Amino acid sequence: MHYIVMDLEWNQPTSFNTPVFRQIGDSLLFEVIQIGAVKLDERFSLIEELSIPIRPTHYVNIHPRVRRMTHLGQAELEDAPAFPEAMAQFAQWCGDDYVFLTWGGDDISVLKQNLDFFQFEGEQAKMYDVQRYFAEAFELGAHQKSLKGALEQLQIAPDENRDFHNAVNDAYYTALVLQKLPDPTKVLSHEQTARKLCHTPRRTRFRVTRTVRTVAEGLAGADVQTPECPTCKKPTQLQTELTPQAPGKYVALSKCPQHGQLFIRVRFSLLPDGQKGMYLSVTPANRQARAYVHTKVLQDQYRQKHGEPIDPEDLSHVSSSNMPFDDA
Ligand SMILES: [Zn+2]
Repeated sequence: MHYIVMDLEWNQPTSFNTPVFRQIGDSLLFEVIQIGAVKLDERFSLIEELSIPIRPTHYVNIHPRVRRMTHLGQAELEDAPAFPEAMAQFAQWCGDDYVFLTWGGDDISVLKQNLDFFQFEGEQAKMYDVQRYFAEAFELGAHQKSLKGALEQLQIAPDENRDFHNAVNDAYYTALVLQKLPDPTKVLSHEQTARKLCHTPRRTRFRVTRTVRTVAEGLAGADVQTPECPTCKKPTQLQTELTPQAPGKYVALSKCPQHGQLFIRVRFSLLPDGQKGMYLSVTPANRQARAYVHTKVLQDQYRQKHGEPIDPEDLSHVSSSNMPFDDA
């Protein structure tokens, strides 16, 4: 049996407002533009490697961030095969008896979605996650290290001819990490299955209630200023200021005359297309929530008086995952 360490690079829509995203966004969120892999024998020695560039056929404009990271643009991919042909090449190279290894679960989720979207028929090999075995070996718990971080921890010097964010190089580095772990076969106890990237409405995928030009504009909206009671759907009155809890995060209390106090949470994040997204949550306020908001109000008053107030429009430190999950 061969171990095939696989890594993908993918393009993302340049905007969620493009006709193509509106048309297919629910079934194809990311389009694969490079598949890279290294093949290892049963003793985890490297046998050969493969890189197949893939010409996108739906999100044909490469997102600037993707181009910057992968150095793949329209020009580089112009003559590359489209996904079905590239997958056929890849399947042939993989052979008959193999399992897939990846770093983390994102790649297989994106792969699965592309396979489904392009209706690529074929036997799905089992997939195992090297990142999870790494976390187990170093007792990191739920804390996941980046591939770069794992190389550093194992004191593996990156090859100056192999940039990160190139699929075949990332696959190669993943193989180096695996080779250094105490018992590479233990990766087989970390089976990974693909996660569904989209089958839910767009706004819940990104946890975005609406997009805004500025945080101030978002906070001034009627949905935030008079938040709807989740029970009776009537607008309610805020009882506190919308108080910053951290950059891009606000809390407040409001009150429905019938259903009591409500806990208002507003979050802003930079979306992959550069817009600002706002997420609003209104839930019944329990005692902890009330105490929490009051603490934040006091902290903010203190900050206004003595410290440095939070710059509301600076979202550069707000974590925003590229993947449409996890950013809970
Ligand atoms: Zn109500």
